[in-house]
Amino acid sequence: MGIVVQKYGGSSVANAEKFRRVARRIAWKRQQGHDVVVVVSAPGDTTDDLLDKAAELTKNPSAREMDVLLSTGEQISIALLAMALQEIGCPTVSLTGPQAGFQTDDHHRAAKIQHIDTKRVRQELAQGHVVIVAGFQGLDGNGDITTLGRGGSDASAIALAAYLEADACQIFTDVDGVYTSDPRLVPTAARLDEISYDEILELAAAGAQVMQLRSVEFAKQYGVEFEVLSSLAPLPSEGGIEKGTKVVAALSPNNNRVVSGVAVDSKVARITILSLPDRPGVAAKVFGALGKAKVNVDMIVQSAGVVAGGVPTADIAFTCARDDLDLALDVCQEVLTALSGTQLIYDIDVAKVSIVGSGVASNYGVAAKMFEALAERGVNIELITGSEIKISCLVRASQAVEAVRAVHDKFELGKTATGAEVK
Ligand code: ADP
Ligand code: ASP
Ligand code: MG
Repeated sequence: MGIVVQKYGGSSVANAEKFRRVARRIAWKRQQGHDVVVVVSAPGDTTDDLLDKAAELTKNPSAREMDVLLSTGEQISIALLAMALQEIGCPTVSLTGPQAGFQTDDHHRAAKIQHIDTKRVRQELAQGHVVIVAGFQGLDGNGDITTLGRGGSDASAIALAAYLEADACQIFTDVDGVYTSDPRLVPTAARLDEISYDEILELAAAGAQVMQLRSVEFAKQYGVEFEVLSSLAPLPSEGGIEKGTKVVAALSPNNNRVVSGVAVDSKVARITILSLPDRPGVAAKVFGALGKAKVNVDMIVQSAGVVAGGVPTADIAFTCARDDLDLALDVCQEVLTALSGTQLIYDIDVAKVSIVGSGVASNYGVAAKMFEALAERGVNIELITGSEIKISCLVRASQAVEAVRAVHDKFELGKTATGAEVK
């Protein structure tokens, strides 16, 4: 039988008991005759703890040294998981990302996988070993260790499945699949049996933490279908069945849902630049400068122009990741001065609520229904953007959970468990 790549997130290996449980799940898969390659994240909150440790020493750590530090979390996991497997008689070897052949660019803390040389992994499989690989890390062209951005073990697993041409890729986490919304925020959320690359891509971009955005981009690009499952579910060796959400290129033909999920992103900030000249090339200057500084901009709105003191002017507002706020403000301040705008303001008490579904653009009234749901609960919408399969509204952070629940209820997502259907 072929290769199966499994990935276990930090919550799945948070303590010794969980390591043992994961080991039993892996051993069972091997007993079924598969070659098993496992990608594992740092235990529990280790990555956050390492970030805190760095923050105690410096406000401005070097990205290279942060990667040296952060990559140690995953190294703890591979060694412990290998020991847990060896303890139950399963031949196993652990490999760091570089040992497993992960080559990346040199963008420390958010490196992109450029290639995986799978020779060593294949050799170990040929010797009958379960291969445990540290997620979230690789080596750049200078021979320096890099990390792949928060949640990056998902990308390690998907990429490894692509390079190994694995028969299956299983992403084990602390929920048993992709839900219509974050089950921690929306208790009525329902599990989806399947979801398309495009839908999960938009959900991830909209803030649903369940899969790292870049990992899903990779899956779509390389056609890696995968399944999201719970590591906490009963073990197959004890009668449990492996059932989660299948992430597929195209939904089954009978799946005619309009909206498949609601996501919230609370880690955003809004920046507004007031009274910029209303003439061609201004938006290009603002967003060109932000792009050059590697700030990803999300929602963008330009106000209708007004004539102030004989000069036509307009305001530009946009959102970016909260982590990028300081950098974005520096860039905007320069642009403001260069273009003689009047003021720069920002707001971090905001959150973005989005509905995602393949029928969003092709069905009448979807946007109106979302806005109605928010209005009924007294939630004010501050910015709106839309795409083929997504509508996003910026709201007050304090109303974000209320807003997600309102929209989820309005589309009756919890009821159908397959997403809202065409009415
Ligand atoms: P891991 O440590 O396994 O990588 P994460 O914490 O990164 O796990 O992702 C799993 C979490 O994603 C869940 O606990 C859940 O709260 C959150 N989540 C957000 N949106 C969704 C969704 N639509 N479906 C399932 N889980 C979601
Ligand atoms: N340990 C890393 C993080 O916490 C990578 C991962 O969990 O996927 O972001
Ligand atoms: Mg994760």
